[in-house]
Amino acid sequence: QSYLDRIAAHARLNAFREVYADEALAQAAELDARIRAGEPVGALAGVVVAIKDVICYAGHHVGAASRILEGFVSPYSATAVERLLAADAIIIGNLNCDEFAMGSTNENSAYGPVRNALDETRVPGGSSGGSAVAVQADLCMLSLGSDTGGSVRQPADFCGIIGLKPTYGRISRYGLIAYASSFDQIGIFGKNIADVAKLLQTVAGPDQFDSTASQLEVPDYQALLDHNKSWKLAYLKDAIRHEGLDPEMKAGFLNCFEEMEQAGHTVKAVDFDILDYVVPAYYVLTTAEASSNLSRFDGVKYGHRTAHANVALTDFYKLSRSEGFGKEVKRRILLGTFVLSAGYFDAYFTKAQQVRRLVMNRINAILEHYDAILLPTVPSTAFKLGEKMEDPIAMYLADIYTVLANLVGAPAISIPLTVHSNGMPYGIQIITRKFDEANLLGLAYTIN
Ligand code: GLN
Repeated sequence: QSYLDRIAAHARLNAFREVYADEALAQAAELDARIRAGEPVGALAGVVVAIKDVICYAGHHVGAASRILEGFVSPYSATAVERLLAADAIIIGNLNCDEFAMGSTNENSAYGPVRNALDETRVPGGSSGGSAVAVQADLCMLSLGSDTGGSVRQPADFCGIIGLKPTYGRISRYGLIAYASSFDQIGIFGKNIADVAKLLQTVAGPDQFDSTASQLEVPDYQALLDHNKSWKLAYLKDAIRHEGLDPEMKAGFLNCFEEMEQAGHTVKAVDFDILDYVVPAYYVLTTAEASSNLSRFDGVKYGHRTAHANVALTDFYKLSRSEGFGKEVKRRILLGTFVLSAGYFDAYFTKAQQVRRLVMNRINAILEHYDAILLPTVPSTAFKLGEKMEDPIAMYLADIYTVLANLVGAPAISIPLTVHSNGMPYGIQIITRKFDEANLLGLAYTIN
């Protein structure tokens, strides 16, 4: 009830798409009765969680914040949701985001932007802006988002909280509405590492419904947090030197590296001269995958259907899709269709795949010699509402530090570092080897 009251009091932030008030209260009452009767309860009993509007929950609306899915009710639950419920977590509602998880500010939602609770004239980041603000403003304890190119880490950074993108395949994508299937991963928002570790523990692991979900066993992350290890860390020279990085933040990162050294860790600068290619490669590959994934929304199978039904079939598709999709989604479908077209496939799609392979090899080579890579999460603090909307390229370029982990498939986390003189928080990002969430969380725990 106290979370429901806070959600109502913070409606202006526009973080939630729907609140499951009666259901959540009934679940809480049922848990209470079980506890009083001395019955066993799950690992997340009573933990209040909310989920991004791209994660399916049986019998509930799911819309990817798009008009094209207006009114659609999911017939099944995502594996992550099933596991939350099995652990007795209380799912209190679903959260606003950029349409189909495409964006960095939450301004691409068909249901209006989310506001940053620290400064309502600023964006919370995106695409999981609602998921970040719900935790930031204590409207729930933990939340799920999705991270294709930074959509968990970037809004966590802008909101001053923790955002984890696990290894590609660590959490099943079954029931996650696809944006770019070889990049997408469900991620976790929280205010402390132990909570995030516990939630990951609950939802991660093999799943017969997702063949890309890893068969690897899930370690006991919480038990692994408490170690006094001396870390061998690398930072990318080209990332810290980058002209787009806010100078005050640059000084903040260098200061952090120095403090880590003084605390007995090794911190070395390494070269990564292909940094400028990661954003172009990411946008070529993800728009290509998106143009294919989003072809299923045709006005027939789901959600919005044009009222002009008395037309030829192709016109029916065109009308339904033109009416249902927003501007940014259309831009990406067009771009993705273009890079996949016969005449341009080799010049763009194949080339971007080659860049992806090169980036993977380079990052993996660094991680053979170091426990982790330290990196900024975003080059600046939270943008003002509207600031980047007229310039999509400028918005894309701000993804430079986050898309790296998705291109590689490696796990990455953003944890709050300090507050900028403009009053907004910013975080530091850590990347480790694939499936090494234990060290990722352990190091985050040390720095935090
Ligand atoms: N900002 C990036 C994009 O617009 C990341 C999105 C995401 O991770 N879903 O594609």
